[in-house]
Amino acid sequence: MDYDVLILGGGIVGCSIAYELSKYSLNIALIEKDYDIANDVAFINSSIVSDGINCKSIFAARLEYMGNNIIRELSSKFNINFQKKDHLIISDDDQSEKRLLNLYEKALSRGIKNIGILNERDVLKIEPDINVKVKKAIYSKNTGIISPYDLAISYGEIAFDNGVNFKLEEEVMDIQSVTKGFNVVTNKNKFTCSMVINTTPKDNYSIDCTNKRQSKKNYINYFLIDNISNEKYNHNVISMLDKSLGMIHLIPIQNNQMVIEITTNDKISYDYGLEIIRKYIGKIRENNINEFYQSTYYYDDVIIDNSLIDKGYVKIIEKHLDQITMTPAIAKIVCETIVNNLKCVLKKDFVDRRREFYRFRDMSNDDRNKIIKVNKKYGKIICYCEEVTEGEIVDSIRRPLGARTIEGIKRRTGATFGNCRGSRCLYKVSNILAREINANMTDIVKNCKNSNILISRVKEFDSI
Ligand SMILES: Cc1cc2nc3c(=O)[nH]c(=O)nc-3n(C[C@H](O)[C@H](O)[C@H](O)COP(=O)(O)OP(=O)(O)OC[C@H]3O[C@@H](n4cnc5c(N)ncnc54)[C@H](O)[C@@H]3O)c2cc1C
Repeated sequence: MDYDVLILGGGIVGCSIAYELSKYSLNIALIEKDYDIANDVAFINSSIVSDGINCKSIFAARLEYMGNNIIRELSSKFNINFQKKDHLIISDDDQSEKRLLNLYEKALSRGIKNIGILNERDVLKIEPDINVKVKKAIYSKNTGIISPYDLAISYGEIAFDNGVNFKLEEEVMDIQSVTKGFNVVTNKNKFTCSMVINTTPKDNYSIDCTNKRQSKKNYINYFLIDNISNEKYNHNVISMLDKSLGMIHLIPIQNNQMVIEITTNDKISYDYGLEIIRKYIGKIRENNINEFYQSTYYYDDVIIDNSLIDKGYVKIIEKHLDQITMTPAIAKIVCETIVNNLKCVLKKDFVDRRREFYRFRDMSNDDRNKIIKVNKKYGKIICYCEEVTEGEIVDSIRRPLGARTIEGIKRRTGATFGNCRGSRCLYKVSNILAREINANMTDIVKNCKNSNILISRVKEFDSI
């Protein structure tokens, strides 16, 4: 066998499973078709860490509740910023009040603690600028926000340091069940392994032929809004129960920005989305809307499919809206299943630590001076919006599983994530990447093949 376990897909779920399994005496590889791990969800750098209140099934609620607790532990272990934000779920008419009270009863029966019901007066004390009539609200103190990239990249780096073989730029074409284990066919290789954990969204591999599922897709519409300090709501995560739509989530994130997520059964237009937002948060200047993005998700209860575990195949199905919160719990459960099947033991030399890194914008001046004395590159700001230095960019490239694309640098350091969207620093960041990986500027890509930042040299000049 080439490997004991092959993990397919290097998103947050694949990386988290790689991390959990790297604690054991197993020969593991992870196959990812892109240049980098955690390549999805490039739109925002904040995810809600939920507590299971809004889950359809008990299993999903348990995964969220468990994941919520693990994320808090991991954020201090991995040095990831977890911002505690309370959560208000608001009903504004009789119909939605009934739905809200149902949610609350369900949450209590599932053992979710630190939640309560508030009336309009209590809500206004917490959020005085609220624009809708409040009938009742659920108040949860269990929630927060976290950067999904930081979590995914931390998982990946530690797994890499503990021996997981990351095969990037390699696409899985088929998974075939054979007498003993599997053949995993990629565009470059054919591997044999005892167990496969498939986190890719594809379901047309040979192994899946008898195992296809049909789920109903819903839509999620994201608006990223700038300069929200001049607008309303800047304290808690607020969700509105809408009688015709699913939910509208207002998520304050860093840099006075807010993400507004509208879940709908059908695809909606940008204008209709804006109309909904205005209904809930009042006037909003259109030039403060930084981005609009639509995606599909499943509001489903089956997340881990181990119906073929007797063969050695586990599949993480569907993209759930709260998957980031569930991820640490999914990883632990899948890991337990694999360990029980392969009868392996914990490694004695597992290092449960991410290599040191510096975030200039979060450091005191004293600490900044100390690090600049050691490495002058930390004294040179490249991205002014996010205060990212050359030292951080170089480190993000030289680290284990280092960045090879502009998006990779952006996710690891925050460079080009600011209000100017890289218009002032993209050129400098590309230049550093080209220098560090010894490539031509024209070879530097945004995130995938053919996404080159520069198309060609300007003929008249000798250098770019
Ligand atoms: C805009 C947006 C905002 C979100 N916000 C939140 C939030 O606030 N809170 C929350 O909890 N969740 C949120 N989610 C959901 C969550 O981010 C996603 O569900 C999560 O990233 C999915 O992770 P994953 O590892 O399962 O899948 P993916 O990230 O899709 O990973 C699958 C990986 O497999 C790779 N792959 C695919 N096919 C192949 C192949 N054939 N061979 C090799 N590799 C392959 C892909 O390149 C990818 O890297 C959000 C999602 C989106 C899109």
